Amino acid sequence: MSVYLNTVAKERNPTNMFNLILFGPPGSGKGTQSEKLIAKYGFKHLSTGDLLRSEIARQTALGMEAKSLMDQGQLVPDAVVIGMISSAIEANPGVPGFLFDGFPRTTAQAAALDKLLAEHGSEIGVLIALQVPEEELIERMLNRAKTSGRSDDADENVQRNRLAVYRRDTLPVSDHYAQFGKSLSIEGVGAIEEIFGRICQVIDERSAMS
Ligand code: ADP
Repeated sequence: MSVYLNTVAKERNPTNMFNLILFGPPGSGKGTQSEKLIAKYGFKHLSTGDLLRSEIARQTALGMEAKSLMDQGQLVPDAVVIGMISSAIEANPGVPGFLFDGFPRTTAQAAALDKLLAEHGSEIGVLIALQVPEEELIERMLNRAKTSGRSDDADENVQRNRLAVYRRDTLPVSDHYAQFGKSLSIEGVGAIEEIFGRICQVIDERSAMS
């Protein structure tokens, strides 16, 4: 985390953490931007999609259960992902902050996350929502399928389903944080560096206020 962010966070927040939710539909660029944010601020990256894919690669019981749901573009049960996030938070004491990517994806997950962070004397600093038009998302996912090897990227029907699930179950998460004045949208179309700059500006402003 930048020296500035660290100093400001330390004064206002006993745990010295600034936690960010990078929010947006599948294909909106969360993974790409997460990597750059981690390099700049030292966040601990918690991506439920990555955690689930690692369970699948290790062929665990949890992974096997999750795979069929993921392949259909359905959500994995709340209890499963909340359990994974709870363990990950426990396993990483003293980090400058968590960057949540692909989580929370339902309002139940958001409520559980708020509770977990509160138990550690912390909270969400800001939710940043990347705005990208739907047709652009489909195109990006089809392109990603060529290299990602992800079975849920290649099929346009599955993608449309993921977007429908996003609208129905996940969009309300941004309203959940909006009620606390912690939800901000930024334009997710443009050059990667340009979008990164917009996200950094929000983080720097919000961490100064927290
Ligand atoms: P994307 O960024 O393209 O949306 P992810 O890698 O975040 O993809 O997630 C892939 C799939 O993993 C989702 O479609 C869903 O089936 C499952 N998944 C990931 N995170 C969650 C979550 N928080 N709750 C429920 N299911 C999840």
